[in-house]
Amino acid sequence: MELEEIYRELGISREVLHFGDAIEAGLKERFEAIDLNAEYNQMKVLKAMQDARVSDIHFAATTGYGYNDLGRDTLEEVYAKAFHAESALVRPQLISGTHALHVALSGNLRPGDELLSPVGKPYDTLEEVIGIRESVGSLKEYGVSYRQVDLLPDGTFDYENIAKAINDKTKLITIQRSKGYDPRPTLSVKLIGELIAFVKKIKPEVICMVDNCYGEFVERIEPTDVGADMIVGSLIKNPGGGLAPIGGYIVGKTECIDKASYRLSAPGLGKEIGASLGLNQSFFQGLFLSPTVVAGALKGAIFAANVYEKLGFSVAPNSTESRHDIIQAVTFGTPEGVVAFCQGIQAAAPVDSFVSPEPWDMPGYDAPVIMAAGAFVQGSSIELSADGPMKPPYAVYFQGGLTWYHAKLGILKSLQKLVDANLAKL
Ligand SMILES: *Cc1c(COP(=O)(O)O)cnc(C)c1O
Repeated sequence: MELEEIYRELGISREVLHFGDAIEAGLKERFEAIDLNAEYNQMKVLKAMQDARVSDIHFAATTGYGYNDLGRDTLEEVYAKAFHAESALVRPQLISGTHALHVALSGNLRPGDELLSPVGKPYDTLEEVIGIRESVGSLKEYGVSYRQVDLLPDGTFDYENIAKAINDKTKLITIQRSKGYDPRPTLSVKLIGELIAFVKKIKPEVICMVDNCYGEFVERIEPTDVGADMIVGSLIKNPGGGLAPIGGYIVGKTECIDKASYRLSAPGLGKEIGASLGLNQSFFQGLFLSPTVVAGALKGAIFAANVYEKLGFSVAPNSTESRHDIIQAVTFGTPEGVVAFCQGIQAAAPVDSFVSPEPWDMPGYDAPVIMAAGAFVQGSSIELSADGPMKPPYAVYFQGGLTWYHAKLGILKSLQKLVDANLAKL
């Protein structure tokens, strides 16, 4: 059967398919570069697994307290090695990216300390963790103050004001690699390294933490390669490779990781406790697959940028920019555009393709959000997913795709919905 026929059975018209294929043909070189990065990162992960002598005994389940969980301890060794760091906390008990970030922050900050974000407003859910938005149990309630220096209008660091913001109380700086729901650019690892070097020159003992969500394995280096003391992320994003059903990680200096572990479990218990409940194999295997999964997601993001830029929508990153995370923003300017796009992504899914997403008031966000996700793991955003807060400029944030082919179908399906509703013209 011809490719065109199977796409037609999936609801993609000839016109939409040909439009997509013409765009794909122009992306050959970029896709090759992505494959080379994936090859490099695959070798990096394999080396870490071999050096840590991963064996099938490490896939055994522990229950109860989880003392002497060999698999868990070896998994953490693999993460530390793969990210070229001293130590790691990789746990199903870290229930989300926000939780992992909260554990890393609250474990390392004490009353009277100050937290600084030199890259502007952090991810929405962190506003309540920090207390930027009043919230019960925030760091602010525990006497941790917060300071923020915004990026300059051109997206670069405001070094002058960052220098002024660092004071006696500054204990930890938090750098968000990915743009999240903001229109600002995503930071390259190289730029993050320059910022860390600048901060450490002013105050060497300050802890530099990077919110690494969506950035893992996009480049060949990670923030831990350029001086970050701690990197934090979610296992239902890049490093879980689509197989981890839950979890988060904190990787970095032993002292920082230990402090985070006393917050995650309890003072005195730290890393020694926490059963892995049979999840270790998914964590190992997901990490193993992550470099190629991330490559597929990146191809999808670049494809989407090129499709929608060609149709006259504003896209970030643009069609030719280099990539530092897997997120693609497309600004439709209308609520209808956001909804049509998300419904197209949903209709392309392997799971729940028959449901139609609607905006809802999601906890932690300040506007209704529409989410498309026909995922094997609930809320997984390394799987093909899209979400858009229902507020101006009416942009959608699109990410993931366990395979490039699925990401391609998702974009084509979204385009078909927009074309059918007269919201886009080929
Ligand atoms: C996803 C994300 C978070 C929060 O992770 P959750 O798992 O959604 O809690 C934090 N920061 C950034 C940059 C993210 O992309």
